[in-house]
Amino acid sequence: MKYRVTLIQGDGIGPEVTRATCRVLAAAGAPIEWEDAPGGAAAVAQYGSPMPQETLDSIQRNRLGLKGPLETPKGRGFRSANVTLRQELNLFCGYRPVRSLPGVHTPYQGVDLVVLRENTEDLYAGIEHEIGRGTIMSLKVSTAAAGERIARWAFEHMRNRGRRHITCCHKAQVVPLADGAFVDAFYEIGAGYPFIGKADLPVDNLAFQLAQDPNQFDTLLLQNLYGDILSDLAAGLVGGLGVAPGANIGDRIAVFEAVHGTAPDIAGQGKANPLSVLLSALLMLEYVGEAKIVQRVERAIFDVLEQGRYRTGDLGGTATTDQFTDAIIDKL
Ligand code: ATP
Repeated sequence: MKYRVTLIQGDGIGPEVTRATCRVLAAAGAPIEWEDAPGGAAAVAQYGSPMPQETLDSIQRNRLGLKGPLETPKGRGFRSANVTLRQELNLFCGYRPVRSLPGVHTPYQGVDLVVLRENTEDLYAGIEHEIGRGTIMSLKVSTAAAGERIARWAFEHMRNRGRRHITCCHKAQVVPLADGAFVDAFYEIGAGYPFIGKADLPVDNLAFQLAQDPNQFDTLLLQNLYGDILSDLAAGLVGGLGVAPGANIGDRIAVFEAVHGTAPDIAGQGKANPLSVLLSALLMLEYVGEAKIVQRVERAIFDVLEQGRYRTGDLGGTATTDQFTDAIIDKL
């Protein structure tokens, strides 16, 4: 049996890094049948939207998606393709494991952190008004239901993975109602998981502590905007956006994705690091239970990184996307 997966190649470096990922997975014998679907700026001309309904339908049918970076054309009234995807499919959990990789030298060793982000509310609800000339109001939405849903997902995930401690981050001193409700939901749901340690921390303090020593944290839970910012910071701790995988997960649907943008500065030049999408594809295989293939591909990636002969520019090397990908396939 093969898993049918919706593949959105995306814009900029998207086609390069998704092609590399598909080559590696094919070489590893991953039982996947890809269904190409349009998205991003590339979809606008033909479908009139950066997130066409037919792509949403395809993901809904297959329940699994893999996505390169998407560009939403600015100033033309389109809602962000990524935000649309998360909201339309109710992919409420942003999941970003952040791990140190062998051979990728950073100031921090042994980082093994999970960043969980509530994906559907907060300022991303997109409710903005100009209430008078030059006076804008943007609304932060926070419901107890969404807070409880992501907290439950977080605690269940931790229990299944043997993770021990979770820190809920907020700015409740400044936004006591919205952020306070999120923290309340966290502790309320957390009461059912007495074996998991819990703390809460102002988000500015978290930023400072992450820069000092990320190893003091195990799992972080954040609302949408804080999660957006801090998860990129966390990616920077282990080597940058080119090596950090991510996923957007809902009740029965999950879309795995590059956490980086379209990188227009290097697009089409064969310089992109495919690891963000490739490691995201491995998260997808882990999600469906294909642990053996995940281990094999991870071993091959780690060997190539450790040997250091083939590295893309973002990791200080000179290898092209294809050379790096070929090296991984050779190891396999
Ligand atoms: P967008 O507006 O789509 O988010 P951006 O340029 O603001 O694009 P990124 O695309 O994430 O943000 O790029 C930030 C920097 O990181 C750029 O210099 C880019 O070249 C680099 N970068 C991002 N992804 C990769 C990658 N996979 N491999 C190598 N470099 C990357």
